[in-house]
Amino acid sequence: MTEAPSPAAAGLDPARPWRLGVFGWPVAHSRSPAMHGAALRALGLAHWTYGALPVPPEHVAAAFAALPDSGFAGANVTIPHKHEALAAADVATPAAAEIGAANMLTVLGDGTIEADNTDAPGLIDVLGEPAAGRTALILGAGGSSRACAWALREAGCSRVAVWNRTAGRAVELAHDLGVDAVDAPFDADLLVNCTAVGLHDPEETFERLPVRAADLGVHRVVVDLVYRAGGTPLLHAAADAGARTVDGLAILVAQGARSLERWTGRPAPRDVMDDAVRT
Ligand code: NAP
Repeated sequence: MTEAPSPAAAGLDPARPWRLGVFGWPVAHSRSPAMHGAALRALGLAHWTYGALPVPPEHVAAAFAALPDSGFAGANVTIPHKHEALAAADVATPAAAEIGAANMLTVLGDGTIEADNTDAPGLIDVLGEPAAGRTALILGAGGSSRACAWALREAGCSRVAVWNRTAGRAVELAHDLGVDAVDAPFDADLLVNCTAVGLHDPEETFERLPVRAADLGVHRVVVDLVYRAGGTPLLHAAADAGARTVDGLAILVAQGARSLERWTGRPAPRDVMDDAVRT
């Protein structure tokens, strides 16, 4: 993964009141403004601002193009704009280009926009053990699944396999990223839920996913990108079955910390960010 220069390193003056934010539609639910607001205060950058940026799909390309002339140092991007963010950027890191989606944009010192994907390294940051040599099963074939498949492949997993409700999407993802598509689960070391299952109706988790609560102990680590107050049924069951668990809030913090470090050129206060998303 390339390390592009931070705006500060590229010539932006941190004393100026730079704007940051998260594009989405809708985006009111996002924890990112609270998380980044707390981080900016902790860094002594309380004059920078980070806000929710609700923009409908038909206007988002124009909104991205306006970033350099609107006082923005950069922005995060969430559903449904991650593909458009990549398309709108002047340059992209290899991670964003290969994944086919960007969750952050950086306005560089010359006014060009760079796209990156910090969801991918964010997963590796919080996995808690090396992925090299491990097998991984990813549930889902949407944008976050692409980022996780790329990240685990790059981290040296001996096998990365994707299962999806709509099998054709898993096959397409597997073809694009050089991983496997499977139509049934297997005893992978790492199980990563990248579906939206568990978000709206937690009771449906084990009806919608191809795994059984009692069997989750076969995995060393179970990761759920979905996060909700009180935790998700998948992670509660995984912990009960003896697997180590990683929750979606940890990944949210990790991708946000990497974004903030790129924009400010400073180490992100990860503990402060973690507290902010959990309170
Ligand atoms: P996405 O591109 O819309 O993909 C959604 C995936 O969920 C697809 O694979 C879809 O399968 C599957 N799905 C949806 N409803 C389903 C159901 N009832 N049964 C089985 N599968 C179902 O979304 P995404 O961007 O990958 O995000 C997925 C989840 O991860 C979301 O809940 C999102 O909030 C979360 N997320 C968290 C973080 C974080 O930082 N923690 C980052 C990114 C995403 P089909 O292809 O069959 O429709």
